[in-house]
Amino acid sequence: MHEVDMTKCLLISLNEWRDRREDTSAMVETVHLDVGRFTCVEPDQLVTTYNAAVQGTWLDGSRLTITEIPFVGRCLICNGTYDPVPENAYRSPCCDNPLEEIVSGRELRIRSIDYRSDAAAALESAPIQRQR
Ligand SMILES: [Zn+2]
Repeated sequence: MHEVDMTKCLLISLNEWRDRREDTSAMVETVHLDVGRFTCVEPDQLVTTYNAAVQGTWLDGSRLTITEIPFVGRCLICNGTYDPVPENAYRSPCCDNPLEEIVSGRELRIRSIDYRSDAAAALESAPIQRQR
């Protein structure tokens, strides 16, 4: 299943993000994901898979929101952009040219992560050494 693999990649990226920050108190609230329409990923299915996969992990309770990026091709004959459709094998409707350049639609990336962190609060509440 495509979405299961995508979720695995996403979890690996999020784990790496946390390791890089060296802040284990980071609580992820929302993960904003860009998904191109040419990736064959079903956004609803990806959210369902994600919600099941994060149960019992440090990401439990976080939310995945998906922004769909349209599938746009460029016709290399007239340089115009168009919406490729499988009905005519993704050829350009203007010049009937085969799809040679994809402008957008293959994206699968984390746009941003909303999170809370106790790091700042922990620093403030740490005992201050009394001066003698
Ligand atoms: Zn054209």
